[in-house]
This record gives sequence, C-alpha cells and structure tokens, in this order.
Amino acid sequence: MKLHELNVTMPYLELEAEFHDKTDISPLKNPFLISCSSDAAEILDVDIDGHEDLLVKIMNGEAHFNGSEPFSMCYAGHQFGYFVPRLGDGRAINLGKTESGWNLQLKGAGPTLYSRQGDGRAVLRSSIREYLMSEAMCGLDIATSRALALIGSDHDVARERWEKGAVVLRMSTSWIRFGTFEYFFSKQQFDKLEALADYTIAESYPHLKGHEDAYFLMFEELVDRTALLLAKWQGVGFNHGVMNTDNMSISGLTIDYGPFAFLDDYDFDYICNHTDTNGRYAFGQQPNVAQWNLSMLMKALSPLVNIERMQEALEKYGDIYTNYYMEFMRKKLGFLIEAQDDASVLRWLFGIMQQEQIDYNYFFRQLSRYDGDKTVLLALCKLEQPLSDWLDHYEIRLAKEDSKTKARHKQMLVTNPKYVLKNYMLQYAIDKANRGDYGGVEELLTLARAPFDEHPEMESFAGISPKSVKNLKLSCSS
Ligand code: AMP
Ligand code: MG
Repeated sequence: MKLHELNVTMPYLELEAEFHDKTDISPLKNPFLISCSSDAAEILDVDIDGHEDLLVKIMNGEAHFNGSEPFSMCYAGHQFGYFVPRLGDGRAINLGKTESGWNLQLKGAGPTLYSRQGDGRAVLRSSIREYLMSEAMCGLDIATSRALALIGSDHDVARERWEKGAVVLRMSTSWIRFGTFEYFFSKQQFDKLEALADYTIAESYPHLKGHEDAYFLMFEELVDRTALLLAKWQGVGFNHGVMNTDNMSISGLTIDYGPFAFLDDYDFDYICNHTDTNGRYAFGQQPNVAQWNLSMLMKALSPLVNIERMQEALEKYGDIYTNYYMEFMRKKLGFLIEAQDDASVLRWLFGIMQQEQIDYNYFFRQLSRYDGDKTVLLALCKLEQPLSDWLDHYEIRLAKEDSKTKARHKQMLVTNPKYVLKNYMLQYAIDKANRGDYGGVEELLTLARAPFDEHPEMESFAGISPKSVKNLKLSCSS
C-alpha cells in the first residue's frame, strides 16, 4: 500500500486518562530524510519509494497517518536501583497502531508532559545509533523494536555542545514497560493495573486472553522471554547499558537504545555506560539485573497474582537462562550434541579470551572455519599456549560430534556474525554524517540487515577493532 493509505488506530487512548497524554509534535527546522529501512517498510507493507516527502512530513508533525492522535505514555521505573515514581515518554510520541500490530512512535519530536527538565529532542548521533541498532538486532534474530526511518534537520539542540536534532520513527509490537506496571502499583491504583494487564495480554500475549490464570501465565512467559533475550544478548556480546525497569519491555524485546555497545575484546566486566560508575549494568551483570528487574515487576503485579506463585516462576529464571544460553553457545561452537562439560569448556575459553584480550565476535567467526590449522586463532594471542591447549581439547570435543567439518562450518557461519555494529563503526557513520555525508548510515544498514553474509567492499569492518577505539565507554547524553 502507499504511505498515505496506512491507517492507524489508538487503542491505548481507550485506557483511562492517567495512562497517557495527548501531545503535539514540535517540528524540526528544515527536516530531511536520511535513511529508510526497506525491511521495516516491508513488514508494514508500505511503499515509501516516491513518497519520501510525505514520510518526512509525518515524522516532522506536518502530516498525519489516517486516524492518528499523537500521545505520550506515562510510566515509572527503577533507575540504577532507585524508584522514580513518574517518568513517562519524555521525548517519544506515539502515532498509533497499524492493523498489522505495530505501534509507531517518534523519538525526538519535542517535549511532552513527561519531559521533566529535558527538551524532548534527540541528537543526530544517538538517532543514527538507535536507527541502525534496531535493524541490526533484528538481523541477528534478537527480539527488538524496529526503526522505519531517520530524519535529520538544521535544528540546534543543546548538549555538551550544540548538535543537530533528528527524529527516528520507531515501531514496536509493544511499548509497555515494567515501569508502566510499577507506576500504577506505586499509586495503589489496582483497577488501572488490571486494565493495563488486560491490555498487555491482548497486545503481547493474545493466546492467554480469557484464560482464568492469564496474569500469572503472562508473568511466567515473560520470565521465559526475558531469559531468552538475555541469553542472546550475552551470546552476541551486546551490552545494553541502561537496564532500568523503564527500559525493560513487557513483551521481552530489546528497547530504548542508548549508550549500548557490542563487545570488542571479550570482557566480562565491560561497562559501556560512562555514568554507570558501579558497573550495575556491566556486560556480565546483565542476566542477574534482568532477574532483579523481573522481581520489581513481580511486586507490581502482586495485587493481581499470588506472589508466592510468581516467586516460584522467577526462581526458575536462572535455569531457563542457562539452558537458552548454553544452547546458543553450543551452536556458536559448532556442537550439535550436548556434553556434560560444555559449560566448563566455555568458561575455560572465556578465561583465555579475557586474559588475552581477544575480540569476541571476530574469534567466533574465525572459529567457524577452523580445520585444525591454529595459525589465525593463535595470532590473536600474545601468549599462544593457553589457546593452543584449548583448541586441542576443542578437537577432542568435536570428535564426539557426527557432523563433518564442512557441515559444521556451514552451520557456524550462519550463527557467528561476520559483522556486528561495534561502536567504532557507528562512530564512523556518525562522523561522516556530521560532515553531511550519510553514506556511512547506508553502508552500516547493509551490514545490519545481513550480518552473516560476506560484504567484500566492507571487509575492513570485519576485523578486530582498532586498538585506540575498543571497549570505550559512552556518555548517556543523547
Ligand atoms: P532513557 O534511560 O534514555 O530511556 O531515559 C530515561 C527517561 O528520561 C525517559 O523517561 C525519557 O523519556 C527521559 N528523557 C531522556 N532524554 C530526554 C530528553 N532529551 N527530553 C525529555 N526527556 C528525556
Ligand atoms: Mg527509556
């Protein structure tokens, strides 16, 4: 369908007034289209080609989807462990829901009722990051919000220095957060809490609709979805950076991309977020933090569901996570069968990677072609012996498998990405964009869409990260 034929409905506005606030979009000065994701357009079944002007107008509040009544959502959340009773979409404005179930949302389109001291804007650099990363996570088969398009502008936005404002049109099957439930729990508005649970079930757990135990089953399934999500984050080496409960999706998706990073060198303790001085959201902490966040949600759901039952479901999180994670890592290692000592083999490898500062994703990609010749892998180490010993053991372990080397390589090459959007790569696209050249965004979008494929023209991004820019920390200001 053509873009102007896309209709939206506003089911969230049917919830009571406290859930949301109708919001005007504040246009940016001289907006222009930087990039549009053809994959995201395809899942919306819209044709953007030839309709770019309308898309820019919609993203800048100068045109509307049929049926749209822009609004922002109210929520609370635990930020770095401390409860903040009222947050809400400070710079996100919802445009409505498509028939296919995508909630469209602008990020950076101006202040809302929930902006507090913020300006409701997003700068170009952070918008490029969110736009590309949403599509990259999808390319890696990780549950995520998506991004349809990115616009830039001449609009000045004050951060540490003046920067240009931008808007991402993001889309998600749900924008409801753990913190949305926490808001109504903390206000003791249990009827609204129930209405929110019913809304969530209809939106994200439709198979539970009408079930007498629906609220408990929703929580139980979310424990599972979150464990799977975290297993995948850890497996690909993704550090979210701000796992506050207001950034945790009730549907088990990756949302709210901020100072995130992919690991360059493997580092269990890596902290991508500059403001996270205590490492609460360090890479290796993420699975535990997700469980803590689920426990906050559990408390918020306690007026609706027996807390002991939820506690029991939550206690299973660790095992569920480990099962998903080991399943994922076995695939990365090329193991089809389970062996008892797989976890210790993996721990052994991580010890070496941590010590030798080995690039995480590059290692697994190289391992995907391992045929007994250790040269390429040992070249990653200062001290070769530990990895050489591990590879000897790896070969013994592989011997337990029925699969032939060629078949194993084939499977590993579609499991271990050749390209992940490391921060230095995103910075390359941002630096170019700041000079008015948006070609880097398109280049990285190509890699984001097909991370397991060969892209010979972009081979330089497939290697280990340059020393001067690896495992850096990022500022939250965006
Ligand atoms: P985050 O951790 O980036 O998802 O943001 C935490 C909270 O701060 C959310 O409620 C955001 O909407 C809000 N926020 C962040 N940046 C801004 C901004 N520039 N203007 C208004 N609100 C903001
Ligand atoms: Mg957020």
